[in-house]
Amino acid sequence: MLRRLGRLIGKGHAENRPTPPRPPKPRPVFDASIVRMEFMLGLRQRGISDQKVLHAMDDVPRANFVDQDHADDAYADRALPIACGQTISQPYVVAYMTEQLGVKPEHRVLEVGSGSGYQAAILSRLAREVVGIERYRTLVEAARQRLAALGYDNVEIVAGDGFAGVPERAPFDRIMVTAAAEEVPQALVDQLAEGGVMVLPLGPHAGPQRIVRLTKTEDGLKRDNLIAVRFVPLLPGQAREL
Ligand code: SAH
Repeated sequence: MLRRLGRLIGKGHAENRPTPPRPPKPRPVFDASIVRMEFMLGLRQRGISDQKVLHAMDDVPRANFVDQDHADDAYADRALPIACGQTISQPYVVAYMTEQLGVKPEHRVLEVGSGSGYQAAILSRLAREVVGIERYRTLVEAARQRLAALGYDNVEIVAGDGFAGVPERAPFDRIMVTAAAEEVPQALVDQLAEGGVMVLPLGPHAGPQRIVRLTKTEDGLKRDNLIAVRFVPLLPGQAREL
C-alpha cells in the first residue's frame, strides 16, 4: 500500500516537473537599431565603399530631417516629400554623390539646393566648412534649426538663388548641386577653385538626367557622366513666397 502510494506520489512528482521554458517572444516589428543597420547594409550592398562616407551616413540621423508624417520611412532607401513641394533625396544617391565628390577634411564645400539640410549635414561631417544655399526661406529656417540642434557648427545655410552661387564665400574646393540643371551654371564654375570638383544632376526637367562630375583643370572642364537619376528642377531666382 505504502509502496503503491510512494509510486503514485513519485509519479505525481514526475508529472509536476517544471514546464520547459517558453520560446522567446517574437521581436517587435520596429527596432530602431535594426532599421539603422539595414540602412547601412543597403548602402554597402549598392556599392558605397568609402569608409568616411559610410561613417557620415551612419552618424547623421536622417529621421531628424524628414517630416513627422514620414518618420517611419526615414531609413527606407527612397526620396521623401518635404515642405514647399520639394524632396529629401534618396539615401543611396546622397551617399553616391558624396562619394563622387571626393571631399577632404580641409575642403570648403558649397551645396546648392539644401532642402531639408540632410545632404549639407553629411558634407559637414567630411569637410572643414559647408555653405548651403536654398531658395525657400521656410526650408532654410527648418534646416538651420535641425543642424543647430545636432550641434553641426561648421555648416551654414543661406537663402538665395543657387544659379548665382555664393560669390562672397568663393572659391570652393567642392560644389554639389542637388536639383537638376539643364546646363552647367557658369557662376558655379567660376566659384570653383582650380583643381576643384563639382557634382550635379544634369538634364531636362522631365528627365532623362544624369549625375555629372566636372573637374576644373588648366585646360578647361573635364567631364565624367555617371548614373541616371531623377531630381526636382533647379529653378531660377529665390522663391517669392514661403
Ligand atoms: N539636398 C536636399 C534635397 C534637395 S531637393 C536635402 O538633402 O534635403 C532640391 C532643392 O533645391 C529644393 O529644396 C529646391 O527648393 C532647391 N532649389 C531649386 N532651385 C534652386 C535655386 N535656384 N537656388 C537654390 N535652391 C534651389
